[in-house]
Amino acid sequence: MATVEQHIPETHNGSAGTGEGIAVENPATGEIVATVADLGPEAVAEMAARGRAAQPAWAAFGFEGRARVLLRAQKWLMDNAEQVVSTIVSETGKTYEDAMFAEISYGGGAFGFWAKQAPHYLGDERVKSSQVLVKGKKLILRFRPLGLIGVIGPWNYPLTNSFGDCIPALAAGNSVILKPSEITPLTSLLLAEGLRECGLPENVLQVATGRGPTGAALIDHVDMIMFTGSTRTGRKVAEAAARRLIPASLELGGKDPMIVLSDADLERAANFATYYSMQNAGQTCISIERAYVEEAVYDEFVAKVSDKVRALRVGKPDDYGTVEVGAITFPPQLDTIKDHVGDAIQKGARVLTGGHQVAGAGRFFEPTVVVDVDHSMKIMTEETFGPTLPIMKVRDAEEALRLANDTPYGLGASVFTRDTERGEAIARRIEAGAATVNDAMINYAALELPMGGAKASGLGSRHGAGGIRKFCSQQAIVVTPRLALKREPHMYPYKARTSRLLGRFFKFLYGRGRRD
Ligand code: NDP
Repeated sequence: MATVEQHIPETHNGSAGTGEGIAVENPATGEIVATVADLGPEAVAEMAARGRAAQPAWAAFGFEGRARVLLRAQKWLMDNAEQVVSTIVSETGKTYEDAMFAEISYGGGAFGFWAKQAPHYLGDERVKSSQVLVKGKKLILRFRPLGLIGVIGPWNYPLTNSFGDCIPALAAGNSVILKPSEITPLTSLLLAEGLRECGLPENVLQVATGRGPTGAALIDHVDMIMFTGSTRTGRKVAEAAARRLIPASLELGGKDPMIVLSDADLERAANFATYYSMQNAGQTCISIERAYVEEAVYDEFVAKVSDKVRALRVGKPDDYGTVEVGAITFPPQLDTIKDHVGDAIQKGARVLTGGHQVAGAGRFFEPTVVVDVDHSMKIMTEETFGPTLPIMKVRDAEEALRLANDTPYGLGASVFTRDTERGEAIARRIEAGAATVNDAMINYAALELPMGGAKASGLGSRHGAGGIRKFCSQQAIVVTPRLALKREPHMYPYKARTSRLLGRFFKFLYGRGRRD
């Protein structure tokens, strides 16, 4: 069992917090692996003051200076990958592979990506205008760091989804306070320590450990809030941000559908359904949460998926290759999973494999396949966030599409068909921030593409140009050359002749449009 030595900066201890620490439990064993401070509003205010004081010098590093630190951090992460993996495993109970493939690889890629791309996305843009009043002037769009960014993260991916958003915020020249989930604070503390070793100046990145109220206090002090978590908390965060008139970017829950058409490569579709519904024990915002399969291939698909899911090993991860499905990280999540499965059974669904909590130490749920499901059941309409896959038979693609869109969520979706043109056409009709054809979830790895939710799945996006520009304000700069008129024609004093002439000029410019 790996435990980490926690680095708590001096200011994280002391009376500013609630006085009681937060015990961090390994969900796979029930063992307490560390205790962290539960910071109160005063401590958060002090951190904010320190973060603000540190920011101008960090901004003055420039893109190159900041890139040097981020690239050192990339190397640090790879050099210390095993320590980071065991820290993630110790506080989430996920498998070593889930930590390596979906967190270390993401972090490594993200440090390099933002170090390289920040100047391209944020460099000054010379703008050409068609508007006659600004002809001959120099027009510049400039991105300037907002100052102090608050990042609030969930427990399912402590590196990718909590810490990950700090990287572009830092690359843009901001200082950051990260409030990780109270359930999984250790990875954030370790990575902040790593960044310090790599030359990130003191207080540019601080970790505010604590519970919900610590997150709420953070919103009172920052210039922008980047939130990842449930839709329920996301609404509260949006309200608090609106009161302060600061921007909020929200990455929220999902209920991602998978559509399998009768011409699909069923072996591939079944492998993807199995992996992307069970990976990270189903605790991924863009995991496959429900499948719709055309009736012609339904039985074969269900048989393949059931066999594959039945073969999965669930339990305490001891090392790489020991289990496929790890623990349920957040205690109340287990109740939600049991509730959704129980509700489905009570309404007539059949469990083909799994369906129960695993007895014994730790918090595990059997990889579960459920059929004979419909939209009266929670398992088809609410976020389950567990190792479950309900599969529903549909008449045709139109019915699948209608059901896929029958949800308040809109994070991701996937379509499986050998006719990729038709698959793309269907993908375009799904109301979701991302849709993949013959694949799932992989859009997250394309850091050039926006990753964000439609409908109740969020506001704004991470990755791509928007994923770093949101940490900046835009400034429009207009420079009129030295050799310019002393007075421009539209200015005082108004003279009837000049005004009429200008009126005729505007009519000439804009009045010749077609009128059908
Ligand atoms: P929560 O919404 O419960 O918590 C998210 C974070 O917000 C935690 O750090 C939490 O602290 C904090 N928080 C709680 N109350 C407040 C408040 N009033 N003000 C500010 N912050 C607060 O989400 P979970 O941690 O349960 O994460 C799971 C959810 O995250 C799922 O719905 C999942 O779909 C979603 N998610 C979305 C992703 C996306 O990219 N769209 C990616 C990953 C997950 P504490 O934990 O200490 O209570």
